[in-house]
Amino acid sequence: MHIIKTLEDLASFNQTQIHTGQEISFVPTMGALHEGHLSLVHEALKHTTTAIVSIFINPTQFAPGEDLDSYPRTLDEDIKKLKSVGAHAIWLPSIDDIYPNGQKIDTHVSDISEPLEGKYRPHFFDGVATVVARLFNEVKPNKAYFGEKDFQQLQVIKKMVSDLNMPIDIIGVPTIRDENGLALSSRNSYLSKEEYNIAIYLNEILRELAHGEITEEEANKKLLEKGFDKVDYCTIRSSKTLTKNGNLDRVLAAVWLGNTRLIDNMPIFV
Ligand code: AMP
Repeated sequence: MHIIKTLEDLASFNQTQIHTGQEISFVPTMGALHEGHLSLVHEALKHTTTAIVSIFINPTQFAPGEDLDSYPRTLDEDIKKLKSVGAHAIWLPSIDDIYPNGQKIDTHVSDISEPLEGKYRPHFFDGVATVVARLFNEVKPNKAYFGEKDFQQLQVIKKMVSDLNMPIDIIGVPTIRDENGLALSSRNSYLSKEEYNIAIYLNEILRELAHGEITEEEANKKLLEKGFDKVDYCTIRSSKTLTKNGNLDRVLAAVWLGNTRLIDNMPIFV
């Protein structure tokens, strides 16, 4: 596995792939890799010949006071994991590689990025769209893989690629969960044992909502009763617009346990 640390190395790795007719797939991450990230790599390797994974903790998607400084950093283990699943290259960009002139450019994807996460983390999707556009510009992948775990993010990236007419297929991969149904997340490592025992109710309550066993209002109430400290949203939305307009086919939630914010979502089961 190539460990790429400079833009020059990335360009020369890419040239070799292109000259030998390889199709490049790309999996952008912020590291602290778990089975969820690795499932994206597995999927990429099923459909393309060369899989590149980036690890870059993107400061522009964190607001002041969020967990940028404490975000888990586990590079040695990440490298081992990526080798074991057969990734071809890992790219570790520096801040200067991504923002050579400071952050002078902002990519804003309108509409789809306004509700839900956009309301509670208004800085977030501009940061994500900006960094993903930069990463795409350097990697020039044929396909890029994103988790449905971050469902709205996946839709924002699809919209950006469509609006900018980028020649990249964006592929969503289903959420990987632990044995208790909790969606894997690098941020789960922040949870205490007690918090974890509450966190596992998120999946259960979302499933009840998705099966029509409880209403949205009951789901919100139940989350607080089970011990979540705050519910930013727990709602049924259209997967296309993420609003209440259209076919309401997805449940999405963001909840707090202490200082940890968890998100999850799933399709409506009919
Ligand atoms: P992150 O490192 O959190 O930025 O995530 C990198 C990619 O992994 C994103 O496309 C996420 O949606 C995806 N991802 C994170 N957690 C999971 C999971 N539990 N299942 C599937 N994909 C995931």
